[in-house]
Amino acid sequence: MNRRACFVLVLLVAASIAASPLAKGAEYVWPLAKRFGLSGTFGECRGTSLHAGVDLKTAQVTGLRVMAIESGVIYRLAVNYRGFGKALYIEHPNGLISVYGHLDSFEDKTLGLERIVEKQRKKTGERYPGNIFISVPVEKGQVIGYSGETGAGFPHLHFEIRRGEARPINPLSIFRQKDSTAPIISRLILTPLGPDALVNGEHGDAEIWIRRGSRDTKKTKEAPKVKGRFVVLVNAYDTVEAPNHCGVHRLELSVDGEVVYSTCHEEIEYGRSYRKAGLIYDHEYAYFRPASYVYRIHNRYGARRPDEGANRGGGILDFSDRPGTHTLAVKAWDDAGNMSSARAEVVSDPRMDAPSQPPSRALVPAGKDQKRALVCVYDDFFDIWYRLTARSGLVNAGVALPELKISARGGAASTIDPVGVGLDWVRFCFPTDRKFVGRLNLELEDPSYGTGTPSCFDEESIFVVPTQGGVLETEQLRIDFPADSLYADQVFALRQLEAREMRDIPVVYGVATRVLPEGIPLDKPVTVYFKCPSTLPGKDLSRCGVYEYNPKRRKWHYLDNSPADERMVSANVRYLSVFGLLIDKERPSISVLKPKGRGSLRKRRNELLVKIVDRGSGVDYRSIKVTIDGQEVDAEYDPDRKLLKGRFDLAKRSGKHVLKVRVKDIAGNESSATRKY
Ligand SMILES: [Zn+2]
Repeated sequence: MNRRACFVLVLLVAASIAASPLAKGAEYVWPLAKRFGLSGTFGECRGTSLHAGVDLKTAQVTGLRVMAIESGVIYRLAVNYRGFGKALYIEHPNGLISVYGHLDSFEDKTLGLERIVEKQRKKTGERYPGNIFISVPVEKGQVIGYSGETGAGFPHLHFEIRRGEARPINPLSIFRQKDSTAPIISRLILTPLGPDALVNGEHGDAEIWIRRGSRDTKKTKEAPKVKGRFVVLVNAYDTVEAPNHCGVHRLELSVDGEVVYSTCHEEIEYGRSYRKAGLIYDHEYAYFRPASYVYRIHNRYGARRPDEGANRGGGILDFSDRPGTHTLAVKAWDDAGNMSSARAEVVSDPRMDAPSQPPSRALVPAGKDQKRALVCVYDDFFDIWYRLTARSGLVNAGVALPELKISARGGAASTIDPVGVGLDWVRFCFPTDRKFVGRLNLELEDPSYGTGTPSCFDEESIFVVPTQGGVLETEQLRIDFPADSLYADQVFALRQLEAREMRDIPVVYGVATRVLPEGIPLDKPVTVYFKCPSTLPGKDLSRCGVYEYNPKRRKWHYLDNSPADERMVSANVRYLSVFGLLIDKERPSISVLKPKGRGSLRKRRNELLVKIVDRGSGVDYRSIKVTIDGQEVDAEYDPDRKLLKGRFDLAKRSGKHVLKVRVKDIAGNESSATRKY
């Protein structure tokens, strides 16, 4: 879709809405009586998926009345533990669907919706019975429920508008926001592509921080030097009536005054584009919580992007035949049409020298003698730096240069000649090559070393995975790539993390591996398997789990522990980062906050509040059991606040009572607490 098509789409959406009698934004009712600003906009990165609606702030409280934006029929309620929690779906006469998520409760007095949920709970025996299909008419502006924090996250209202069940559109194309603040562009990132491309003499990314000036256009001080093909990423965010970092609506990249790539968030398709976050955001830099939106303003993989506008050559830049200064300009718009721009000059220098020293980042030390050889992994090639010994310094005196031999799957070895020789380094460069698929064997021959080969590469950890799929496998870990999970053939390296690199991690009993390079988008989930240590007693396998490390939050997150065979646990992942096998032997901690101590049962006899924290695999909400005098109490666990809330009634009974709370974590570690009153 080109840029014009993006506008046409906006107009079409607007036109189709205007065509129906009750369709103008002004004629819809905003779902909350008061506006507290937004904490999320349409199309934002939510880990591996896209945000299909907007998040309305609710002043950090729950229980605000939520109104139907237009008359229609409530056709679906959903009650889930995570996700949208309690959600309500209305179909309107013009065919649009509105969705309201994370509700505290549904309206019951007039519409009887909570009674419907209660009935379904009894019928299914499930606290979270999922979808309930109903047909309850509502009027425009009628209260349909109360805002809450059910499902994922803290108090807010998730609000969607869809054309049919599967096509969310940007609600802010209908509802105008009072917003006069333009987006903030904080930095541009230049990524060189391929072994011949360089930015500032390096193969790694270069960041250009944008100074925040008083005027719209900000100019950068430094002018990076570029050689060969490169692409641009932009870090941008917007605030909408509240000081949150929200995603931007449109982005445009121009080079020397001509638009080469643009994006526009107007529509998402569940099933098709909902999971394409990796094509739009670079997972190496983009995070959700804390929100940091780093957009790819290019389409180097040639895959279909739901937000694509203008596309000239995929937005891949190459000034090889045009030395000198060029201007990159990035514009960012919010949903209200406010625009910011940032400009950066780059200097094309086709004769730039390749680096003469290995970079300090992105290194995979190879072998026991780690200082002798370093492997740097980039998106489509890898770079090996071999340090010459005093004896091999004789190269200058006419001795033959070292050679690198590469083979895969036991195939014949190819000899790679050095691409560069420094005073004390020899550099080899190897682009992704389909004839090498699977684990690569690297062997270095240094004639000046005398007999034998220096032990540089005994940790075989470099792989080439083609788009048809493949496997990365070491002694501890296996990653299965199904066919078409990658957008392009890809070099990967696995780097085992050492204990000292995991210092900040509280519950590590296992191993951890970083997958390089970071930020590679996946089109399908891949499966990460870990082999559990053979020293484990049999039943402990259930305590093993696959975890992922979030460096920004300095925390491990439990993913899954699906048993793959007797010794392996697995998890499906949507992007590659640092994975670990952790063994959770720690029990959840329970502290009863309400009712408080002796005698208080009478004062606040009906409120139960228990903090349950588990540092490893997390609380298994299904295992929670609360009893008073042996009778079960209905209570709900909020994993974001780590609080168990419930109500009970002891009005008719006096005397001593016993409160018991029992809980397991997902790994099966059990805790219990007893209180007497
Ligand atoms: Zn949301």
